[in-house]
Amino acid sequence: MRVLITGGAGFIGSHLADHYVAKGDQVTILDNFSTGSQENLAHLAGKVTTVDGDIRNVDLIEKLTKDADLILHMAAALGVNTILESPLESMSTNITGSEVVLHAAAKYKSRIIIASTSEIYGKNPKQPLSEGDDRVVGAPQKIRWTYSDAKAIEEAMATALHSQKNLPVTIVRLFNTVGPRQTGRYGMVVPRFVQAALKNEALTIYGDGTQSRVFCHVDDAVKAIATIAGTDATIGEVFNVGGNGEITIKELAEKVIAVTKSQSVITYTPYSDAYPAGFEDIQRRVPDITKISKRIGWAPTQDLEAIIKDVAGI
Ligand code: UDP
Repeated sequence: MRVLITGGAGFIGSHLADHYVAKGDQVTILDNFSTGSQENLAHLAGKVTTVDGDIRNVDLIEKLTKDADLILHMAAALGVNTILESPLESMSTNITGSEVVLHAAAKYKSRIIIASTSEIYGKNPKQPLSEGDDRVVGAPQKIRWTYSDAKAIEEAMATALHSQKNLPVTIVRLFNTVGPRQTGRYGMVVPRFVQAALKNEALTIYGDGTQSRVFCHVDDAVKAIATIAGTDATIGEVFNVGGNGEITIKELAEKVIAVTKSQSVITYTPYSDAYPAGFEDIQRRVPDITKISKRIGWAPTQDLEAIIKDVAGI
């Protein structure tokens, strides 16, 4: 099978590349290397075809799509920090880029999985979050929400192309995915805490640490995506992909220190110092994974301790 991974040099994309290369598939990676890196692909040298390019390049996308049996659309301007720092470029990549990819897939009727996000639900206080739940986001002038908005437009476009042009698309909403190769540069609390703990430096909690998340190992997320991609009954559907076990960020900091046997202390920074102006954190984010479990029999296998150890390399 010929697999095209947009954003394949990124954290999750490169793990997907590993999966399909191991299966013996022919993998092509398209990445603009903005947040993705050659380092993520170094171990795949000679085993994948890498194209340095932009998902907004219609000719390039059409050519790559025509030659693919499966497209995993992972490319995005990602992380709330990136969105706040480069709002116009981020919106263009996430809206126009996804439009180009989706329309090319529709033209060639290519099987496509699009990576969406738990940010879709915004600050909806109803937990756990199920696929049909409302989006609760702030005013458009609060640029922070444009990541969620752009992904919502992408999902809506995918859904409309499925119903009007029979695009064989499935949407996956990834919740706090973590594992090796994830960089702490763009927020990402687990690699930041682990890196600090390994150096016995302070772990810095933003806000009061009562905000909570559920973390999922990237290998589990890859299994979910690959199973969905191989299951035609998932076409036209949307699935949450996330872990088990809600934990506050304060408890996470304590756990990282304990698991890595670190001497680090915990410090607190107000949101106003941690993030650019206009940021609003999500207080709770818990995935309801009933649907994916019923439909493809998937469940996360790695708990938080295993995840922390893997990220720490211990
Ligand atoms: N966070 C923190 N310290 C850090 C990085 C993040 O306290 O060094 C907090 C952040 O404010 C948020 C949570 O950890 O409440 C998860 O942040 P991350 O960027 O990993 O993911 P997201 O906010 O997208 O869920």
